[in-house]
Amino acid sequence: MKINRRTFLQGVGASSVVGSLSGLMPGIASATEQRGGAPDKLLKREGKIVYHTCQRNCADRCLLKFTVQNGRMTYVEGASEMKKMGTSPCVKGHAYVQYTYAADRILHPMERAGEKGEGKWRRISWDQAYAKISARLKTIIKEHGADSILPYSYSGHEGVIGKYGGPSRFFNAVGARKLDRKVCVFAAYEGLKSVTGTYQGPDPYDNIYTNCYISWGQNETATNVHGIKFINQARDKGAKLLVVNPIRTPIASQADIWLQPKPSTDTHLATGIMKYLIENNLADTKFIEANTIGYQDLLKRIAEMSYDEIEKVTGVPREKMFKFAKVYGESELSVLRLGYGMQRNYNGARMSRAIAMMHAVAGQYGKIGNGFVYDNTQADDSLNYSKGRADHIHPHGDTVGHVNMTEIAKAIHPTNPTAYGKPIKPIKAVINYNGNFVSVAPDSNACRRGAMRDDLFLVVHDFLMTDTAELADIIVPSTTQFEFPDMGTDYNCYHMQTSEKVIEPLGESKDNWIFFKELAAHMGLDHHPEMRVDYEQILRDFLDTEEPAFRQNNITYEQIIEEKFVTVYDQRPYFGDGKYKTDSGKIEFYSQMMIDAGYHPVLDFGLPEDEMIPEEKNLPFRMLSPAIPQRANSSFYNVKYIRNFPAYFAKVNNEDAKELGIKNNDRVRLSNHRGEAFFIAQVSSQVGRGTVMAPKNNWRRMDPQGKASCTNNLTTDKLTDMGGCSAYHSTNVAIEKA
Ligand code: SF4
Repeated sequence: MKINRRTFLQGVGASSVVGSLSGLMPGIASATEQRGGAPDKLLKREGKIVYHTCQRNCADRCLLKFTVQNGRMTYVEGASEMKKMGTSPCVKGHAYVQYTYAADRILHPMERAGEKGEGKWRRISWDQAYAKISARLKTIIKEHGADSILPYSYSGHEGVIGKYGGPSRFFNAVGARKLDRKVCVFAAYEGLKSVTGTYQGPDPYDNIYTNCYISWGQNETATNVHGIKFINQARDKGAKLLVVNPIRTPIASQADIWLQPKPSTDTHLATGIMKYLIENNLADTKFIEANTIGYQDLLKRIAEMSYDEIEKVTGVPREKMFKFAKVYGESELSVLRLGYGMQRNYNGARMSRAIAMMHAVAGQYGKIGNGFVYDNTQADDSLNYSKGRADHIHPHGDTVGHVNMTEIAKAIHPTNPTAYGKPIKPIKAVINYNGNFVSVAPDSNACRRGAMRDDLFLVVHDFLMTDTAELADIIVPSTTQFEFPDMGTDYNCYHMQTSEKVIEPLGESKDNWIFFKELAAHMGLDHHPEMRVDYEQILRDFLDTEEPAFRQNNITYEQIIEEKFVTVYDQRPYFGDGKYKTDSGKIEFYSQMMIDAGYHPVLDFGLPEDEMIPEEKNLPFRMLSPAIPQRANSSFYNVKYIRNFPAYFAKVNNEDAKELGIKNNDRVRLSNHRGEAFFIAQVSSQVGRGTVMAPKNNWRRMDPQGKASCTNNLTTDKLTDMGGCSAYHSTNVAIEKA
């Protein structure tokens, strides 16, 4: 694939997409026809400027500026005059004009005109759509109860209204089953809380002051691009860059030392590093004495683990690990950035705990330039969610059943629905918005079987024909994020920022508040005042918070609108007061929380293979399925030049490939008891022996190979050790030449 200037240019590309794709959706008007005007004839940089936050599931949360001419979005650039991390769009943000005016946008409601999944659609009006949806939902409520209705959504829109405020009000008014949106972060949340009492940490702006940046399981060049400049500033002043990752990421290639452990062996690796620090007088005993409990238990536990065992389990040569530990231990200030992927394992919480403990042994909390950065949700966690979502209007809010989104396939199982290991009342309707569970949830084949059930009413609110939408009974067109006003929170730094409405909704599309508000009215649920408010009131409800992060600076709705972004208060230096958020107020090397969860109170060395069924355990490859930089989960498949980036490959280690007789560009089949998936082999030392890496969430219906290349055909839907998180990376597979 050649990416040249012509294909990359914003706006221009939108018109070029029409010719190639508009024929795919007969009866659906092209988005490029909306609002008129050939985009390449418009002067891109002249016109009204609108500030809008990128609402993809990306920690950087770029504040962007859109140029609007004659009601049409024509140009996107970063709000670089703002002193905020994240004011320059990445390849995804640069694609927003094409993304918005994509030729295959769904612009009218449609109902199924054939068998489920057959791809035959009939255009209907909104009145018809509302009448059909509300009639079917009312019948389901009457016959099976409102808790037979399940929302499914995740991060298709990360705005305050788009993600929660709009849709959740509807599901609360209905009395629907609750969806636990725990696909990410929650295993690490628990592991980190068991050490310091929180998963939050210092502001990454202060990374420039560090002497040592440790990237642990994080691929900054794909998922935290703006963090790179802070790392580079620190390195310019002499800081070391240490990387731990089973994949040779771009930042690993640039590291002073890169350790490549076998996947999910991080507890052993962190233990090895602690052991070295302790044995070589590099443990910060003064810090440990003042700030921790259970150090003697830790010493005892570490003494039980040998370097031989660590080397055998992790595959990391001990000399290299010692070198890493020496640089780390001798650095005055070290900041550790933990990625999100590593914790998506059966032992995710336990590994996260071990890494956080290691950082305490090194004495690296409480100063500017050190600390542990994971999920900086200081702004998000301070919002008044229960008021913003109107949780109080749910008739059975405290007692209604829950479904973990990772287990969606189990919850909609045709004959044996379960949740959290227990049988549940069948789900009779799924309303899918901000998500695409057939592609993104684990065990995709089982998801598809559930969605195909004749007795499951599937409504999809989306602007694209996704793998989930094509199995729907009714599809209603959503707007993109640019067609309604919202706000959003950063989760790397401590920001809250505006998302002004950029353009009017295209076609007949309706946003995440208007659709659910009007559906509520059709179902007779608008007697709740909470279902009759405007966007501003929802935002004000979320901002009606007494949390110190907002109140310290007296942050108001008006201030965010006026200033475009605000920084919420938090400690600086983080933990500078020596008060940790655990029950003891100290860093806990010995944890009651771990005992309560059924694990060793200090370090638990369990591995994912311990929990696999024999037929999976004995398969020779661990499959990792991370994101690629050009996509955010299931998003951006509608942008032609992004779709043309390679995403249908599987990276296989050179020596493994040799043994299997696999060469570069061979078609390979990955398989296990859940299914199979096909990829083009890339033979590379980027992955270690016994590891295969393939990008996550390829859509079946967009697969250029004509074979299913979705890693989720193979992934596990078993939950993590703590936190109820997904464990995608605890998946073993076989590989063969296809
Ligand atoms: S995806 Fe992330 S880096 Fe890219 S534009 Fe959005 S917030 Fe910025």
